[in-house]
Amino acid sequence: MSNPINHVENKTVIITGASSGIGEATARLLAERGANVVLAARRTERLNEIAAQIEAAGGSAMTRSVDVTDADSVDALVYHANNLFGRVDAIFNNAGVMPLAPMSELKTGEWDNMINVNIRGVLNGIAAVLPLFKEQGGGHVINTASIGAHVVVPSGVVYCATKYAVWAISEGLRQESTDVRVTTISPGVVETELGHDITDPTSKELLTQFRQLALKPDAIARAVLYALDQPADVDINEVIVRPTASAF
Ligand code: NDP
Repeated sequence: MSNPINHVENKTVIITGASSGIGEATARLLAERGANVVLAARRTERLNEIAAQIEAAGGSAMTRSVDVTDADSVDALVYHANNLFGRVDAIFNNAGVMPLAPMSELKTGEWDNMINVNIRGVLNGIAAVLPLFKEQGGGHVINTASIGAHVVVPSGVVYCATKYAVWAISEGLRQESTDVRVTTISPGVVETELGHDITDPTSKELLTQFRQLALKPDAIARAVLYALDQPADVDINEVIVRPTASAF
């Protein structure tokens, strides 16, 4: 039997939040399949380590220090990726934060941070690629939402609100686009560093319990690969990936 067509090979894919967890696993998997991966986050040292390992394994990777809340920084990321590889085929807007706490704790600074990273960060990614995608006649926007975009839980109110917003932005962009593919990836619980910034002890304990069923980040990376690895006329709109044993 001949090998199936690989729609990922030689594609240039920008990945935000690539310094750990789902972003890191996705960068490694896509590079293995022949994509040029552009790793972006704030922790440059970690990005460089991951990129060095990808290159040592024969892959193609570049890194860029980016704060997704800063539109200029995200514009510069896309500009440099395009300059280096001659085109950008996809952006995986994946950077996110989740400082869970009940609303009554009034951790309004954490609310702002979630809004800025989880919503504004995704919008900045979209704004940075859309003009280029128009010029190229196509492209792929992949956004990380969450099961928190489908169900609201106590302590996760603002986090879920940001993920509902990511879902709505993705769906709206999809409806408006005829040549840009849009995919929402909605993971259930995954074993990553997400939530390391929780300051509310009860919420931290809740997350520890929830994490007992967690998937490995690679399970989500495979969903991203599935969406990317389709011909240009096929748009995988949403993939929800939960641990089999998890009700939520
Ligand atoms: P991690 O904490 O491991 O990864 C989060 C990534 O986001 C890191 O690479 C971090 O890099 C980056 N990041 C955070 N803030 C910024 C910023 N201002 N600018 C640029 N990068 C930033 O968690 P996950 O891998 O789990 O998270 C990835 C996505 O998956 C998030 O959107 C999260 O909401 C979502 N998700 C995760 C689930 C889970 O159970 N783990 C479930 C559902 C959704 P750095 O600090 O170096 O900047």
